[in-house]
Amino acid sequence: MPKEQARVVRLVLGDQLNHAHPWWQEVRPDVLYVMMEVRQETDYAWHHMQKVLGFFAAMRRFAEHLRAQGHRVRYIALDDVANRQDITANLVELFGLTGATEFGYLLPDEHRLDEQLKHFAATCGMQVHVADTHHFLTTREELATLFKGKKQYLMERFYRVMRERTGLLMRGDQPLGGQWNFDHDNRQRPPKGHVPPPPLLFDHDLRDLERMLKDAGVKTIGTVDAAHFTWPLDRAESLALLRYFCEHLLHRFGTYQDAMSSHHWAMYHARISFSMNVKLLHPLEICEAAVQAHHADPERITLAQVEGFVRQIIGWREYMRGVYWAQMPGFAQRNFLGHVNKLPAWYWTGRTRMACLRDAITGSLANAYAHHIQRLMITGNFALLAGVHPDEVDQWYLGIYLDAIEWVEITNTRGMSQFADGGIVGTKPYVSSGAYIHKMGHYCGTCHYDVNERTGPKACPFNALYWHFHARNRERFLSDEARPGMMVRMGMTYRTWDKMPAATRKALLDKGDELLANLETL
Ligand SMILES: Cc1cc2nc3c(=O)[nH]c(=O)nc-3n(C[C@H](O)[C@H](O)[C@H](O)COP(=O)(O)OP(=O)(O)OC[C@H]3O[C@@H](n4cnc5c(N)ncnc54)[C@H](O)[C@@H]3O)c2cc1C
Ligand code: SF4
Repeated sequence: MPKEQARVVRLVLGDQLNHAHPWWQEVRPDVLYVMMEVRQETDYAWHHMQKVLGFFAAMRRFAEHLRAQGHRVRYIALDDVANRQDITANLVELFGLTGATEFGYLLPDEHRLDEQLKHFAATCGMQVHVADTHHFLTTREELATLFKGKKQYLMERFYRVMRERTGLLMRGDQPLGGQWNFDHDNRQRPPKGHVPPPPLLFDHDLRDLERMLKDAGVKTIGTVDAAHFTWPLDRAESLALLRYFCEHLLHRFGTYQDAMSSHHWAMYHARISFSMNVKLLHPLEICEAAVQAHHADPERITLAQVEGFVRQIIGWREYMRGVYWAQMPGFAQRNFLGHVNKLPAWYWTGRTRMACLRDAITGSLANAYAHHIQRLMITGNFALLAGVHPDEVDQWYLGIYLDAIEWVEITNTRGMSQFADGGIVGTKPYVSSGAYIHKMGHYCGTCHYDVNERTGPKACPFNALYWHFHARNRERFLSDEARPGMMVRMGMTYRTWDKMPAATRKALLDKGDELLANLETL
């Protein structure tokens, strides 16, 4: 690395591309900002190629933006010969080259990086300043404080606090429209042949970056057309994506939030999580844009649509972050259901005869994206019913999606989707038989399996596995470790099970055993 004098070195991580951060308000000649592409980050999971490209390309653009503002930036590329491929090793090198006496960094969102930088800060012998990222609406500790002494964290309560705090969709201290949650108006299946507007795609030539990653031997998953990379890479593009969502998609966001289609991979979803997670967009500006769109055209963009969207961001997203900091590092070891199975190899290829899983997996491999209900009710649902070890499930989700950063990935995967936390996040496990998938999507008609069959050779695997899951976990759900009141919420399912003739129950359990023994061949 070339020598360059600086009194202060400040580190900006790849998911800290916040244009509005107070650091940028003043151009300081004594400060050198450092950004780096390192093997430490490309190799901690098998990332999708689009994820690595998206992060590095967005970081490069952000560095250019800072330079254009007059800031001094040292950008260490992955193939830089002096790159030590480790964040703290590069920092030590840079401190020596600059003669810096002060080191600043922004609070990392991941526990792993937080620990690494905390330890480094305590031992590097520099004067250290840690700054907030000015991105989230709550502090790390706030959720834990709000629910102090409680066994569960109720998202709905947290959400109300957030609505009151932000004033979003409020009239005084009351929710607009007289209710907090309009979910019952939402979540329909689109009529057959319904065509949503196409997703807004960008067109970037990232072939040089792709070549660099390949030459360096970075192991990735998924596919990419690097000559036409489609995700937003800077703030202007992220804002364009937000505008497109508000104009063309928001009016049906809630209605078709849970709908699935093999022809339309993005449906009415915003595809904004990457831009938000790397902090190119602020959660509040996104919600304000949606609320403004509603006020400008309330007949078309109804309150129910906007409320559903705002809840995802100031509710679920912020809540997941609170759960993460309240529960880590122990959360990453939770396996409440004692699952031990391996993730079937076809999760990495999409080669299965189950049409819904084939579509969700091949779509994820092609786009580095799947919408929420595909993640929860297709890939997550199956992994949970199949008793897959949560470590395996986590690795898959952490790698495959462009927006996957541990704080929001693990809380959704281990918590919401796999119930490995025993009900900290979810009030009961998110599982379903084939009937739900049939209701919300159009997959079953083209499937090798029959959604209406439960035990025959062509029976939809979700059906027997669903009952097997409930039967084998009954004691666990009744245990003291489980979330209180869960059995009441699951009472209907168990009453249905108990009412079945013994022979039917046995046939379902036998079929479940057979499926579990043959997961790879489904
Ligand atoms: C098993 C599983 C794993 C997931 N992993 C991730 C992940 O790694 N990174 C990630 O950002 N999201 C994750 N999610 C949450 C959610 O699926 C994605 O945020 C969403 O699909 C992103 O697409 P979108 O921007 O089109 O979202 P939209 O459906 O348009 O929703 C708008 C925004 O709401 C927020 N949001 C919605 N649901 C959630 C949620 N449950 N938790 C947090 N934020 C939410 C997101 O920021 C999203 O961009 C996961 C969900 C599940 C079930
Ligand atoms: S029949 Fe079962 S496996 Fe096939 S698409 Fe429907 S739900 Fe999925």
